Amino acid sequence: MTQKFCLCGIPPRELESILFPMPRYRAEQVFAWINKGVDSFDAMNNLPLAQRRELDGRFCLRKTTFIKILDGPGAAKLQIGVSGGLVEAVVLTDGAGRRTACLSTQLGCAMGCVFCKTGLMGFTRNLDSAEITEQFYHIRRFYPDISNIVFMGMGEPLLNLCELRRSIAALCRTMSPRRVTVSTCGLADGIESLADEGPAVRLAVSLTTAREELRQRLMPVSRANPLLRLKEALLYHEARVGRRITLEAVLLGGINSNAEDARAMAAFARGLNVVVNLIPWNPVEGVFFDGAPLKEPSPVEIRRFSAELEKRGLKTVIRRRKGRGVSGACGQLGSRQRV
Ligand code: SAH
Ligand code: SF4
Repeated sequence: MTQKFCLCGIPPRELESILFPMPRYRAEQVFAWINKGVDSFDAMNNLPLAQRRELDGRFCLRKTTFIKILDGPGAAKLQIGVSGGLVEAVVLTDGAGRRTACLSTQLGCAMGCVFCKTGLMGFTRNLDSAEITEQFYHIRRFYPDISNIVFMGMGEPLLNLCELRRSIAALCRTMSPRRVTVSTCGLADGIESLADEGPAVRLAVSLTTAREELRQRLMPVSRANPLLRLKEALLYHEARVGRRITLEAVLLGGINSNAEDARAMAAFARGLNVVVNLIPWNPVEGVFFDGAPLKEPSPVEIRRFSAELEKRGLKTVIRRRKGRGVSGACGQLGSRQRV
C-alpha cells in the first residue's frame, strides 16, 4: 500500500502551496490544528466536513508510531517507530519544572564518536521533517507544557540541515527560536550555513576536548574539521548571529579533564562568547578507548576540571545526571530493535 503524504512538520508557507487552491486562511487553519498536535482531520471542526474528508483522502497527519514511554526521575524517554527502525526522543524536566524536548534528527549517526551509543550503532538514514516534528507532538501528548527544544537526540543535525530547517520552521510558528538549540559535533560548513541562512536558533558545539590529537581520536569527524577551522566557523557565527554559544564537553574518566585539557579549552575559547557545559559521561556498554573500557569521571574530577576552567575565566555549568534510569541520558540513545 502506498503511504499518503504526511502534512505534519510542513512549514506554513509550504503547506499553503501543497493545499492550493484551498484559500490561504483555510491552509492557516489546517496548520494551526496540526500545530496543536491533532492527529486526525476529523478533529478540525472549523473546516467543512467535505473538506475534512477530501484532506483525509489525500493526506495523513502521522507517519511515525508511538511505541512506548519509559518514565524516570527528571527524564522520560519515548520510543517511536519510523520506517526501518526506532528513534528515541527524551523529555527532561529541570529543578524549576521547565521541560525540554530532546529530538532526534537521524536514525543512527555516521560520526562514530567513540563514547556515544548512537555512534556505535552506525548510520541508517536521515529523518524527514515529519519524522522529526512528530517526536515533539508525541511528547506533548504526555507533557503539554514543553518550553524548550534541543536537537541533541540521535544523529548529527547539521548533516540533515534541509529537513531540520523545515521542522524548525514548523515548530517555531508558536515557539521562539531562542528556545531552540541545535547541537553539533562541530561541522564548520554547517555552522557557517546556519549563520548565513538561519534559523536563528541557539548553537551548542560538542567540543569534548580542545587537544587536537585526542579530539581526533575520540571524534573522527574532527579530522576533517580541525580546531582552527572549527574556531573560524564559531567566530563567523558569533559575528553574524551575536549569540552566546555553548561548548559541550563530555567528561570521560581520566581522559579529557586534566590541567592540559583545561588550558587547551581556555585557549580555544579565547575571543569567543561561550559557556562550557560539562557532561559527565553516561556509561555505554562495550566502548573502549586505548584498549581500556571508558569510565565515568569521579565527582572530584568533575569539580576540579570545572574549577580549572573557571580559574581561566570560563563560565561552566555541570550538567546534572538525568535520564540514566531510562537509558535516555546524553549518548545513551540507540535501540537496535527494528519495527
Ligand atoms: N550529534 C550531535 C547531537 C547529538 S549528541 C552532537 O554530537 O552534538 C548530544 C550530546 O551528547 C553531545 O554533546 C555528545 O557529546 C553527548 N554525548 C554523547 N555520548 C555521550 C555519553 N555517553 N555520555 C554523555 N554525553 C554523551
Ligand atoms: Fe553522532 Fe553526536 Fe553521538 Fe557523535 S556524539 S556519534 S555526532 S550523535
